[in-house]
Amino acid sequence: MYASKYHINTLKEAPAEAEIKSHQLMTRAGMIRKVAGGIYSYMPLGLRVLRKIEAVVREEMNRAGAIELLMPVVQPAELWVESGRWEQYGAELLRMKDRHQRDFVLQPTSEEVITDIARNEIHSWRQLPLNFYHIQTKFRDERRPRFGLMRGREFTMKDAYSFDRDEASAQASYDTMYDAYMRIFQRLGLEFRAVAADTGAIGGSRSHEFQVIADTGEDLIVYNPQSQYAANIELAAAPCLIAQRAAPTAELVKAATPAAPKCEIVAEQLGRPLADTVKSIVLATEDADAAKPATIWLLLLRGDHDLNEVKTGKLPGFENGYRFATETEIQDTFGCVPGYLGPISPPGPVNIIADHTVANMSDFICGANQEGFHYTGVNWGRDLPEPQSADLRNVVAGDPDPQGGRLAIQRGIEVGHVFFLGDKYSRALGATFLETDGKPAMLQMGCYGIGISRIAAAAIEQNHDDKGIVWPRAIAPFEVVICPMGWHKSETVRNAAQALYDQLSAQGVEVMLDDRDTRPGIMFADWELIGVPLRITIGDRGLKDNVVEIQTRRQPEADKVDVAQAAAVAL
Ligand code: ATP
Ligand code: MG
Ligand code: MG
Ligand code: MG
Repeated sequence: MYASKYHINTLKEAPAEAEIKSHQLMTRAGMIRKVAGGIYSYMPLGLRVLRKIEAVVREEMNRAGAIELLMPVVQPAELWVESGRWEQYGAELLRMKDRHQRDFVLQPTSEEVITDIARNEIHSWRQLPLNFYHIQTKFRDERRPRFGLMRGREFTMKDAYSFDRDEASAQASYDTMYDAYMRIFQRLGLEFRAVAADTGAIGGSRSHEFQVIADTGEDLIVYNPQSQYAANIELAAAPCLIAQRAAPTAELVKAATPAAPKCEIVAEQLGRPLADTVKSIVLATEDADAAKPATIWLLLLRGDHDLNEVKTGKLPGFENGYRFATETEIQDTFGCVPGYLGPISPPGPVNIIADHTVANMSDFICGANQEGFHYTGVNWGRDLPEPQSADLRNVVAGDPDPQGGRLAIQRGIEVGHVFFLGDKYSRALGATFLETDGKPAMLQMGCYGIGISRIAAAAIEQNHDDKGIVWPRAIAPFEVVICPMGWHKSETVRNAAQALYDQLSAQGVEVMLDDRDTRPGIMFADWELIGVPLRITIGDRGLKDNVVEIQTRRQPEADKVDVAQAAAVAL
């Protein structure tokens, strides 16, 4: 590729709304352009990155035995009614009507369509196991689309769905996907952690998230540096909610604030505006049963942490006394923003035992007072000291890690999620197959998502410096850039640059030759911002001694390399 024939348009300034590095740098490097809130055009350089990520994902999915197909973005409401999610999904599901007033959705995920395919295509145990995947545009009408590709409304996801005869075989499919995910994120060159995740409203027994470690991540991960234990905060803190048997009164809640002498802060508090980031909340009750809706009292806390208001609402689906509620559900049920949710007061017959705001919350605190009441929840507006280390042992009651030890907490970006579904969707849609005895049985399912476009942003959060992006080579838009000093003036330089370009291209290296008539400073700044991993500078002076300069993006100084060796070094 020749730069003069390509589209390169770097910007000095990032848009004011771009809060995090990946959003700023992708915009400045000309990789994305905003079309509407959470909706972007992938510009040529950005698209190359996405295609690279897709290629790695596709290769590993194929290697793991998954089969690619392509399901539509627009899906009929009927299927969503059948699964029950037409009612349940809430405001993130973009619904629309066609000219005949028929209802459709823009798919946020494809369980319904794939289960419909399965019930029509899978007849016999002989066809199983099967795993279908696609890489397709998703739409989720996120309440707060932000951070560029990190939390878009339109984004690209790889989603796979496994079908098995029985639970044991479905678990094996799950493990295969888990291993494939490990390989994918290793190949992408990211520092990540697989963490146990809550199965939330979907139920099922197993779920793991793949979290890229980054301070700007919206999720919190709890792990034990001495063992294998790692879980997202929802899962890590949930047992405490069930174990907790003291009903928090307003007095107790107040006593659990850090200002109260009896209280000790045992976890960390990370400061960002609260209402911006809280996404879901764990609701726990002592005696709710899964079958009937439980009445929940929510105590709303305002910025001055006065106990302003109590709201009531009925929510179904409590299992083992607790469940998650999304912000949308909270909003719909209680008519309030979950960012202001605080502990729950139990003035009624249902004894609410605790609450706990989870993923994407900004201010997470845990307190324990001397009476042994553990409080987990959000900072309700007071300026808290910021403890550096975290000890969630008091929060994680029923010690989830047999090895014990001090737990640590860090921020992560959820880039992948594997989920054992069981027969949730096959039962709802009647997706059966014939067993060896000729009797129909329910298909056992798993679903497996990877945020393709989010990975691009997550990679930048982990790999950047003050000059710009530092792409891992596996996903860089170009692997090598050749910068000739005087392409338009010196035939010697032109010939040498062209020869090197031809050699590298012939070897399959994705190489860019910058033949623009620009000053070296500007040229270098562009490629540093764009983040090409390797730069080769060719000038008359070096060529006199038969050398070119090769510099990796992280290297402060260039190496002088013999022209004849340059292609081999750049490989
Ligand atoms: P989050 O907790 O960040 O909202 P999620 O749990 O709702 O994500 P899943 O339903 O598990 O997401 O979807 C699978 C993957 O799709 C996620 O792991 C993430 O990488 C990606 N993803 C989800 N929502 C978005 C979004 N709004 N923008 C970009 N990628 C997303
Ligand atoms: Mg989400
Ligand atoms: Mg999530
Ligand atoms: Mg998820």
